[in-house]
Amino acid sequence: MASESPKKNWSINDFEIGKPLGKGKFGRVYLARESKSKYIVALKVIFKEQIEKYRLQHQLKREMAIQTSLRHPHVLRLYGWFHDAERIFLILEYAHGGELYGELRRAGYLSEQQAATYIASLTHALAYCHEKHVIHRDIKPENLLLDHEGRLKIADFGWSVQSTNKRHTMCGTLDYLAPEMVENKAHDYAVDNWTLGVLCYEFLYGVPPFEADSQADTFRRIMKVDLTFPSTPHVSTEAKDLILQLLVKDSAKRLPLDKILKHPWIIMNADPNGSFPE
Ligand code: ATP
Ligand code: MG
Repeated sequence: MASESPKKNWSINDFEIGKPLGKGKFGRVYLARESKSKYIVALKVIFKEQIEKYRLQHQLKREMAIQTSLRHPHVLRLYGWFHDAERIFLILEYAHGGELYGELRRAGYLSEQQAATYIASLTHALAYCHEKHVIHRDIKPENLLLDHEGRLKIADFGWSVQSTNKRHTMCGTLDYLAPEMVENKAHDYAVDNWTLGVLCYEFLYGVPPFEADSQADTFRRIMKVDLTFPSTPHVSTEAKDLILQLLVKDSAKRLPLDKILKHPWIIMNADPNGSFPE
């Protein structure tokens, strides 16, 4: 499968469809097996009618083009796509461990070792994406999948952009948004660095840092960078230091990706086998 030419004209007849894996806003995802090679994949099915109704053709094309061009151990592969009269099918790498979100909710919060390993994996993947001028912009636990060995894979490039200059659009879920995005100001790669800080906090405390009862309150908390560290669970000073260096309002002052990987908390806690460098 992975070695097949991307030019192959796939059709639904090439696959045996298995159990549903998940459901998104526009798509349903199924476990599937390519009949000839027996290669296991995830097949994401999107109804054209939905995409056309919300005028998302361009965005979907962009998502597919971006994800096809990316090859990194922590970025979910998109092997190819095809369509019939009603549907578009994306042939995706299968992530056997499912959503990181599920693991986080089951466990409540993660150990410093596990959190640091995921943050290091994400940082490696984002450094690769940024080098290719891709800003993901929608990093959240639901879009982070785990493979059969528990290694993190970034999925869902629906909101990502390929860009060399500052962006000026509104998108994503509020909890993970950087102040410059909430305010709809021009923004750049550093939005993903902010999100790393939000995720690091959520991994260690089990809740995102700016959670509030209403969107308006979350908005206000993000704008003030209203950050508090609860006394339980216990979190190390080094972890808090990293979070404080990422959740910085001025995007130019956020810790850059290469420095995250050299941060003492990452060095002390991340499992080198769980996070392959590029
Ligand atoms: P949304 O825009 O709401 O995030 P979406 O339509 O973009 O959703 P995805 O996030 O790609 O859809 O997939 C929906 C869910 O299906 C995921 O959250 C995950 O649980 C499951 N899923 C998606 N891709 C895979 C995969 N490759 N392997 C295993 N499970 C997957
Ligand atoms: Mg999703």
